[in-house]
Amino acid sequence: MTKDIRTVAFIGAGNMSRSIIAGLVAGGYPAERIIASNPSQGKLDALAADYGIRTGNDNLAAVAEADVVVMAVKPQLMADVCAPIAALDLAGKLVISIAAGVTCERLSQYLGGHQALVRTMPNTPSMLGLGMTGLYASDAVGEADRAFAGHLMAAVGEILWLDSEAGIDQVIACAGSSPAYFFLFMEAMEQGAAALGVKPEDARLMIQQAAIGAAQMVRHNPQLSLAELRAQVTSKGGTTHEAVQTLEQQGLRDSVQDAMQAAVRRAQEMA
Ligand code: NAD
Repeated sequence: MTKDIRTVAFIGAGNMSRSIIAGLVAGGYPAERIIASNPSQGKLDALAADYGIRTGNDNLAAVAEADVVVMAVKPQLMADVCAPIAALDLAGKLVISIAAGVTCERLSQYLGGHQALVRTMPNTPSMLGLGMTGLYASDAVGEADRAFAGHLMAAVGEILWLDSEAGIDQVIACAGSSPAYFFLFMEAMEQGAAALGVKPEDARLMIQQAAIGAAQMVRHNPQLSLAELRAQVTSKGGTTHEAVQTLEQQGLRDSVQDAMQAAVRRAQEMA
């Protein structure tokens, strides 16, 4: 747990804020130094009950009191939500955005030219503490603020600092969008299993367990490349070899590369 305890205000208390708050509190961060601000009372009551944090529906009061402001509303609301905040004195406050597609330049404009900004790109498994977050800090962010932002996002999984903001688009292709690639692969396997006559519930169990097992093998064998791990379970002339050859011949690698480039292109268009 960090020794750097600051008052953190979450503007927007939806799924992602809830996950980060849960991770922070579980890691020992003092709940009384966390404020969540959201229009709907139900979410606030649940957060207060579950984590003992402070809540309210006055964004400006939360920001005024905070040392660190986490902007966690939907991207399309960001301009409107920032407009009144921009009128406050934000000097000395670190602003961290988790909104997809809102560049530091745009966020700075929304916040009246505020410079100390960290832009992050988390992904959905953050909900389980298994997230992957890319972070980019603007030049105005000092070492202590950088470390704080890293600690905050590490509450929901692994973090990766990026040298340039363009790296955020690479994070989108590799981690932000990629859980869906794995879901699609598993979905295709489910259909393949159905074609073989496997019961849906049996197929789901087997595919899920194989996916978790494969991911854990990757994690537990950092000294082995992915190709080496694959070679270890692929004996020549065997069943796995036949299956993998078929995937290779059908152009799986090219499809995946095209998909990742498409994600980057779309991220660039949306920025
Ligand atoms: P969400 O819809 O669950 O949460 C957004 C919250 O903002 C809601 O609770 C809503 O009531 C609140 N809100 C709306 N207007 C507000 C206002 N004026 N002031 C304060 N709060 C207001 O969405 P989420 O999934 O938590 O996503 C939040 C941000 O995180 C988005 O910008 C999204 O792009 C980003 N993000 C989410 C994920 C993910 O996996 N969920 C991944 C990457 C990035």
